[in-house]
Amino acid sequence: MKKFLLLILIIVYISCFAVFSRVQAALGKWEKPQYIKTYIQPNHPRTVMMKHAFARWSKVTNDKIIFRYVDSTQTSQLDVFFVNKIDKDFSESDKSIGLTQNKTDIKSGNIYHSTIWIADNSQGNRVLSNDEVFTTMLHEIGHALGLNHSNTKDSIMYPQADVRLEISKEDLNNLRTIYGWKN
Ligand SMILES: [Zn+2]
Repeated sequence: MKKFLLLILIIVYISCFAVFSRVQAALGKWEKPQYIKTYIQPNHPRTVMMKHAFARWSKVTNDKIIFRYVDSTQTSQLDVFFVNKIDKDFSESDKSIGLTQNKTDIKSGNIYHSTIWIADNSQGNRVLSNDEVFTTMLHEIGHALGLNHSNTKDSIMYPQADVRLEISKEDLNNLRTIYGWKN
């Protein structure tokens, strides 16, 4: 008798920097957060900046989160793509400049794949500044790690673009809760 593996998934799209986001579902967590196989679209002007954003998350968590770069989407668990604009079909507002999709196993709560899209331009065709894009990168990585939006304005997970380049204590506390870290 054949056994069929029934994989039940939650797929959550989080369109970001929508002012009134309604996404409240749990986003899951990585089973091995120190071995997240990560692919970044190469040879793009933002490729190196994206690596800096990943490195920032590793630094503030004292390497409890580590992204291991791979050069193919065939073997990756986390993918980053750069796009002209965020597809309006997935955005909750006309302000979205980043998007994350997490695929989470509903039984274990483990994220087994995540995709991040980073826009070059606003929905109004304005070229985004380096600060806006870097903030967006930190924010989207937060989603990919399982963090939801925050109502606290100095959180990197506050859903509105602003000049806010740092990951806050609240963000780290929330991550600690998700992953069960002691310190
Ligand atoms: Zn967001």
